[in-house]
Amino acid sequence: MSLPLQMTAVVFERPGAFAVLRIPTPRPTPGHALVRVAASMICATDRKILAGTFAGTTFPHVPGHEFSGEIVTLGPGLEAPPIGTRVGVEVHVGCGACDRCREGLYNLCLNYGKRETGHAHIGFTVAGGLAEFASVPASALHVLPDSVSLEDGAWTDNLGVALWALERGRLMMGERVSVVGAGAIGLCAAQLARALGAREVVVLGRGERLGRAKAFADRVVEDATPLFGTFDLVVEFAGTADAGRDAIRLARRGGRVVLGGATGQGVELSGIDLSTIVRGHLDILGSVANPKRVSGRALALLANGKIDVRSLTTHQFPLPRFSDAWATFTERRDGAIRVMLRPQES
Ligand SMILES: [Zn+2]
Ligand SMILES: [Zn+2]
Repeated sequence: MSLPLQMTAVVFERPGAFAVLRIPTPRPTPGHALVRVAASMICATDRKILAGTFAGTTFPHVPGHEFSGEIVTLGPGLEAPPIGTRVGVEVHVGCGACDRCREGLYNLCLNYGKRETGHAHIGFTVAGGLAEFASVPASALHVLPDSVSLEDGAWTDNLGVALWALERGRLMMGERVSVVGAGAIGLCAAQLARALGAREVVVLGRGERLGRAKAFADRVVEDATPLFGTFDLVVEFAGTADAGRDAIRLARRGGRVVLGGATGQGVELSGIDLSTIVRGHLDILGSVANPKRVSGRALALLANGKIDVRSLTTHQFPLPRFSDAWATFTERRDGAIRVMLRPQES
């Protein structure tokens, strides 16, 4: 196809201000593929980016880090995947040369934000996928299995984040698992825990979202107190200090706690009796993002039909209606979990 000179994109123009604009269509640079975006979702982190609190983002900025599409052009030096391949996108691209990248932990790349080293945090430090087209480094692409739709493929990054937290927590078959937080990633984690053989999965959350969680858990609860000290593994994806405290208290003695929610600075954890951790013999682990190509393993589970992300995609809008989509997501209208934009529809 011949590429249009201009495309429609969401642009965060300056902190607190966005617009849907016509901007030049990107041309893929060496090692990048141009992706025609089919489905692209809004995430809570986009609020931090718009607010201007995310260091590393420069305005004007095209956001979007949860997306899928089809490859339309390959940049210089790239011979695969073939044009037309359907792909999901992973967010973190490391420099490939630093100590963390060489360990496979490119989410912790020591050259974060330094574009000249090849580092990219898609939708954060470089342009993302809330646009008709996005230029994506080849190492961030996951070829979608045939049975995974483009809509579901937009969950590539989220599923990897959730699976990585469970892998950090060394989930074993037959264990009891609690997920703190009934948002998108929490509900991915609940489903993945079930798919990996957890005996019981209990989701802790609040409001309308918790109602949706019922389909993905053995039990949903609003008050954690009666369950303190009972779970083999607790994973937290709510991002508040309350959630962190609950997560630690929910673990049984000798259990594991994975805190994955608060990715920004400024949330302090206080009010935990140290003996809960020390005498409780707890493993308390932080988890950020999705290294080691874990998203590829998550896509395999998605392809097997073990995970339902369609029910978590609660709303869809064409790209020009971004401002409606944004309000639906940020105000959690109708228990919104993920709001999807469809850039190829008008
Ligand atoms: Zn996200
Ligand atoms: Zn690196």
